[in-house]
Amino acid sequence: MSSRPHVGIIGAGLAGLRCADILIQNGARVTILEARNRIGGRVYQDNLDGHVVDLGPNWIHGQGENPIMSLAQATQTVTYDPAGGNFMVSRDGKFISEDVGTKVSEFVWETIAEAFTYSNENRDSIRPEESLYDFFQEKVKQTDFSKEEQQLCLDACKLWGAYVGEPTERQSLRFFRLEECIDGYNYFVAGTYKRILEQVAKTAQFHADIKLNHPVVNIDAPTRKSDAGINENQVTVTTVSGDQFKFDEVVVTCPLGWLKNNTNAFTPELPRRLLQAIDNISYGRLEKVFVKFPRAFWMVDSDNSDSNLPSTPIFTQFLEPNYAKEHPSHLEWNQECLSIASLPEPCAHPTLLFYTYGPGGAHIVQSIASLDPSSKEYKDTLIATLQPFYSKLPGYDASSTDCIPTSVLATRWQTDEYAGYGSYCNFQVGLEHGDVDIEVMRSGDGTGAERGLWFAGEHTSPFVALGTTTGAYWSGERAAGQVCELRGLAHVGMTRGRDDSLPSAKTKL
Ligand SMILES: Cc1cc2nc3c(=O)[nH]c(=O)nc-3n(C[C@H](O)[C@H](O)[C@H](O)COP(=O)(O)OP(=O)(O)OC[C@H]3O[C@@H](n4cnc5c(N)ncnc54)[C@H](O)[C@@H]3O)c2cc1C
Repeated sequence: MSSRPHVGIIGAGLAGLRCADILIQNGARVTILEARNRIGGRVYQDNLDGHVVDLGPNWIHGQGENPIMSLAQATQTVTYDPAGGNFMVSRDGKFISEDVGTKVSEFVWETIAEAFTYSNENRDSIRPEESLYDFFQEKVKQTDFSKEEQQLCLDACKLWGAYVGEPTERQSLRFFRLEECIDGYNYFVAGTYKRILEQVAKTAQFHADIKLNHPVVNIDAPTRKSDAGINENQVTVTTVSGDQFKFDEVVVTCPLGWLKNNTNAFTPELPRRLLQAIDNISYGRLEKVFVKFPRAFWMVDSDNSDSNLPSTPIFTQFLEPNYAKEHPSHLEWNQECLSIASLPEPCAHPTLLFYTYGPGGAHIVQSIASLDPSSKEYKDTLIATLQPFYSKLPGYDASSTDCIPTSVLATRWQTDEYAGYGSYCNFQVGLEHGDVDIEVMRSGDGTGAERGLWFAGEHTSPFVALGTTTGAYWSGERAAGQVCELRGLAHVGMTRGRDDSLPSAKTKL
């Protein structure tokens, strides 16, 4: 057994960086092979006309034991709870009154909480085809709401799509419980994930050999020879340029979407049950579009505003917008936007952040696929798609220059090979053994001990944090702990240890 094993980590996202941190703290030598020219993976910032914005995550789901929240506090990253100021625009483009909006919103969130309980308590009897939307349909029938209010509830429940990247009709009810997060509220990372990423990367940047622009194309991890004990240089990793690296152990943190497309990168083939798990768990398509204006025209003075309009919408949900039929997509979709102008100083700027998902997000990405982000056509295409929405906000005046966007920026995660052509894992209808699939991906179905091949990444995280930055961070710790255990190293520095059991957490609502 090597006293100082050399561990190769594929991918320098949060999972890979945290894995490196723990391994280094416990005496391993670490090399990270990263395909991109930067670290961070899906945690990524860009510049929007002088303001830094997060193109990947910008929420922290739950507090308490959440290490990402602790990192936000340690790095003095401003976080914000955007509770209140939530409004809905109905199918005909009118703001829904506060009374009705509150009634609908309470129904939606109470039903989501009930669906978590139902999914937990009836895990074996819920049919795989049943969706969260089916549950909503049943529940709304049991209310004494008017027909119009019932329809509003069914429209409003589609906001779940922006949590998971696919429509509510695709959300598995049976495995809805796997979407439960750590207890507590969702905080918007107003100061961006920049300093959180820098903090997670610190140990790796000082003590690991990080090789950027090294896309891995093959990982050759033969079965260990049992009579030789744990042999050295067990795993050979080949990059796209043909460079080869030999490691004692390898931790693969490539996104689930990458694994789905590259199962043939592993020699010998991965175990059948692991391949099934990779195939079974689905991958969402959440995208974001930032639209910046000269002034936050929607932050109207309540005394001057039309009394039917909210004064400062922070979060607006546009329900099945019939009025947007004429816009280029000819599609109807549920659309949401958040006012970055409502964030605390110095994080506020006059920008609306639109979240799009599923077919809506796919349409937007496709429409700009061949366009240069600095071109007029790119800007015009995005404006034409989103103007039907932001034009409904209070203070909009088509003749005012304040209401003409100065810059737009859209993500394209679903065309990004190294993001796995999507956003993060989710649990769609048809899934039969989602919890076991996750456990199999976490354990690699034995490939760690047998072949020196370990897996980390948000799709292998504890159930309570799947698909999140917290989950990615914990998964890196867990994989590092597994390697340390096998190699007889200490396991200091872990915030969660090896506890991947089903959470006792209730809901993030
Ligand atoms: C639009 C969007 C919004 C999100 N919002 C939130 C949110 O608000 N809150 C939240 O908690 N989470 C959110 N997430 C999810 C969160 O970003 C991820 O869970 C987390 O960042 C995943 O980290 P990771 O290390 O598992 O994967 P990644 O960050 O993807 O890291 C994997 C790394 O592997 C590299 N790689 C891939 N293939 C290869 C290869 N062949 N060779 C070498 N390197 C390779 C990649 O370049 C990448 O750097 C969001 C994600 C997206 C896309």
